[in-house]
Amino acid sequence: MAAQICCVDQVRPGTHAIAGRWFCDEHFKKATYARAGFWRTGLIAIIGLLIFVAAVVALDAALQPQLGGSVLVLTGLLLAIVPAALWLVFFYQQDRLEPEPVGNVARMFVVGLALASAIGLPLTDQLFAVQDWLYTDPLTTWLASIFVTGAVEAFIIFATVRYFIFDSPEFDERTDGVIYGTAAGLGYATALNLQFILANGGSALGSGEVFVAEVALAHAAIGGLLGYFLGRAKLEQDPIWWLPTGLLLAAALNGLFLVLRGQLDSSTWEFAGQGGGLPTFSGLLLAGGLAIVVTAVVSWLMNRDIARSLNNQQPDVKQDPTVGDRQSNYAVIGAFAVCLLVGALVANNAVNRTKTFSVAGFTGAVPADFGIATGDGDAYRVIDSLGTGAEFAIQTPAIEANWDAADVATFLAGERASDYELYKILSSGQTTVNGKPAYTQEFAYVDNNGLTGAAPEVQQGVDYIFVENGRAVVVTMLTTPDYLADVEPQFARFLNSLKF
Ligand SMILES: [Zn+2]
Repeated sequence: MAAQICCVDQVRPGTHAIAGRWFCDEHFKKATYARAGFWRTGLIAIIGLLIFVAAVVALDAALQPQLGGSVLVLTGLLLAIVPAALWLVFFYQQDRLEPEPVGNVARMFVVGLALASAIGLPLTDQLFAVQDWLYTDPLTTWLASIFVTGAVEAFIIFATVRYFIFDSPEFDERTDGVIYGTAAGLGYATALNLQFILANGGSALGSGEVFVAEVALAHAAIGGLLGYFLGRAKLEQDPIWWLPTGLLLAAALNGLFLVLRGQLDSSTWEFAGQGGGLPTFSGLLLAGGLAIVVTAVVSWLMNRDIARSLNNQQPDVKQDPTVGDRQSNYAVIGAFAVCLLVGALVANNAVNRTKTFSVAGFTGAVPADFGIATGDGDAYRVIDSLGTGAEFAIQTPAIEANWDAADVATFLAGERASDYELYKILSSGQTTVNGKPAYTQEFAYVDNNGLTGAAPEVQQGVDYIFVENGRAVVVTMLTTPDYLADVEPQFARFLNSLKF
């Protein structure tokens, strides 16, 4: 039997019990208090944001402002913060009769933003590098959206509320969890939006704001859902699976949203400076619909929980609730670790998956997400156009009868030196590949991208040159210095699989 101390203030004696926790009179009233305006406030905040977005789009289309440089970036950054700011103002105004301390809500937003920038985005974008392999195939897209992106976002939102306010006496109503969770979700969304704006050097006003609002609404909904699970975990003693279920549900919902949005017209994002034309609203309507459904379902669930508490239909105090809190905290961390493990397996499978080819007497395997780009003078060429941009090529240049592999290398160097700026051999040597002797040379040059109008780029690569019975076979890897470390192991597998 746990000591009869109020679980919220940890001081006053408990006079009422709800599902395994004791409450003093004041906090029992709070724990069973239904905010009549909660559902209405949420709905008004969502509609308010949609109206604001419509106004920005209409102004953008009517005035077609020509912004550039730092003004464009600053405007983009401002627009990225607007959804969260609007939500805070709406919520505070609507609930000013019985507001949460606005400082606490703002703190959840800032902590969510900071944890997203410091942990969430580095995990998804750098450690997992989801963007490089997400679209390998539909199953990979689903699994990555749920178990990597979805799980990381859900855990960051969970951690924001669980470790930065959960144990505070300010967290004493069921709606508190939803409000704090929504604020943390908006923090995550704002980190994502600021990253997009900075990465693209600003955004077109109308379509940029549609995108920003879409991200904000989706994350607010996911944060609110997770906040419901946290709010109930604070005021009741729930089974150990309760919070992990909330985490997984939030991750799954996030994944579902990402996949559905990806399948809708994805042209809602325009790059800096390309104004004009109306953006598509399908993603925004999807996010708005998600937010409204979650708000409605969560409101209904909270009212049901409160009715059950008042009718005393829940089990009695059996053990010290702090023990249960600790256990379910570990259970959530465990569930998150399992998600990341699944994500790592999916990532590994997607990155290392290969497809075989058989062309012009050559057989072998290339990474599954590389596309065929065989052109003039190639026996075979593949390119990772959605990922690193790396190219693997097999060529059989015509050679003189007495040439050896080193002569072919010299010939190639002469050709490239006339095609590209600053062609340079970095190193050369002899090796064997699958028992065949090969001459290797590492090289670099500047591709001035004359045909595309893009900026000149340093290209780095390596040739493996084989000469057999008067025929030369040149196997080439081509990439940029940034991706060299990623591409080299892929090329090594390709080279070792090659038979001719
Ligand atoms: Zn109390």
